[in-house]
Amino acid sequence: MPAAVTAEVKTYQLYINGEWVESRTKKHLPVYDPSTEEVIAQVPDANSGDVDRAVEAARAAFDHGPWKGATPQERGRVLFRLAEKIRQNAAMLAELECRNSGKPIVEAEFDINDVATCFEYYGGLATKILGYVNPVPDNAVSLTLKEPVGVAGQIIPWNYPLLMAAWKLAPALAAGCACVLKPAEQTPLTALEMANWFPDVGLPAGVVNIITGYGESCGAPLVSHPKVDKIAFTGSAAVGKGIVKAAADTVKRVTLELGGKSPNIFLADADFEAAIDGALFGVFINQGEVCSAGSRILVERPIYHKFVEAMTAKARTIKLGPPLERETKMGPLVSQEQYERVRSYQELGKTEAKVATGGGRADRFGKGYYVEPTIFYDVANSARIAREEIFGPVASVIPFEDEQAALSIANDSPYGLAAAVWTRDIFKAFRVVKGLRAGIVWVNHMQPTYVEAPWGGYKQSGFGRELGPWGIDEYLETKQVHINLNEQPIGWY
Ligand code: ADP
Ligand code: MG
Repeated sequence: MPAAVTAEVKTYQLYINGEWVESRTKKHLPVYDPSTEEVIAQVPDANSGDVDRAVEAARAAFDHGPWKGATPQERGRVLFRLAEKIRQNAAMLAELECRNSGKPIVEAEFDINDVATCFEYYGGLATKILGYVNPVPDNAVSLTLKEPVGVAGQIIPWNYPLLMAAWKLAPALAAGCACVLKPAEQTPLTALEMANWFPDVGLPAGVVNIITGYGESCGAPLVSHPKVDKIAFTGSAAVGKGIVKAAADTVKRVTLELGGKSPNIFLADADFEAAIDGALFGVFINQGEVCSAGSRILVERPIYHKFVEAMTAKARTIKLGPPLERETKMGPLVSQEQYERVRSYQELGKTEAKVATGGGRADRFGKGYYVEPTIFYDVANSARIAREEIFGPVASVIPFEDEQAALSIANDSPYGLAAAVWTRDIFKAFRVVKGLRAGIVWVNHMQPTYVEAPWGGYKQSGFGRELGPWGIDEYLETKQVHINLNEQPIGWY
């Protein structure tokens, strides 16, 4: 059953200029199965020299390769063919994603389907990039042209490895950019496997380069590289802040998605069963390793105690287990580092609030970075567990008195990525929606994400939007063209 134990250790290379190449460092970093703590692969530990090679390849591809002349239809077809490869190989990709990230196989299958959908969506959008005719006086024609921003450096996290790669690559390629993608060091495998199909789907050499390595030695040189036009980053707030500073010297365009501390608000009139389910799903899906996790659960007083009890009882039934088993609803955390981080917040929570359930390691598997789904209640919104992003299955339940109080608690956070509100009252629902300072607001649900709709945050959750037409816009420059229709000299001098 756990294929992970018997799997061979494969050594990968960097994908630069359409070829598999060794890192200049000749060093590798280990990639783990977090359920067994075993090494399942080695990937290059790339440094600034490798970054330079990848950027040069992307630069050449963008400036004078065949990609430059590719029509929107041709770019779109490349993305459709890539989507098809992903669908054909979905089972392999889902299993690899599952083994490398620790997420349950059923969730990995959803992710891979979403990856293909994302490439399909932007394949279609490639032919719908429109300019404008600007309403200037009659003696001229004024146009707005949309052009690719150039070489995009794309740095992604480990929670949805291939999906985050797709969110970055698909709009960039639809727009006509060339890319250097740096997957998270913990989870680079599915993106590397995908690169095997790039030549088959007609992606010219150099248009997408994939480099693996650590943030400091491989991500940072990409951010500061003078030949990179734009950085798209999804990751921690701390690193995001550093990226904004590092990008300043070369005035790069930057888009950031930095996670949050998203409130999931339950008004007393909400459907109770659906609410309990929604609270658990909102915070525990993908082991809680979700930037939009509903990690602050705000509950109106009249239902508060019943809510904590019911949520606790149901949380105790969540099936932890090996990620490859289909019944598993929660796997291990992605890495030892993340395990230790979440464990420390579990311990901190015990000093800041009351424990409803969990609070420790889930021991019964012997190995693996498993933690118990954990619910703290009577949490003050000022507690660190209510302010800091934990990125694991740790919920803070906070009582509130009325709608206004709910809004002020919800908005009292440095973050503003997502929020949800549960109620059967449309007046309350819309008032809360409008009062929330967050980029994504769900009503009577939490987490559904569609490639057609914008994704991104307010406040310190970042800036810029991914997905939908907003996503492609972040990879486009705007050129104003003025065409004079008056054949006479200007006659000024
Ligand atoms: P985590 O807290 O989960 O490690 P990070 O924000 O550190 O999240 O990592 C997200 C991505 O950012 C990863 O691909 C990582 O390698 C990269 N990264 C980390 N530090 C830097 C940095 N200083 N410059 C550029 N990229 C970085
Ligand atoms: Mg890090």
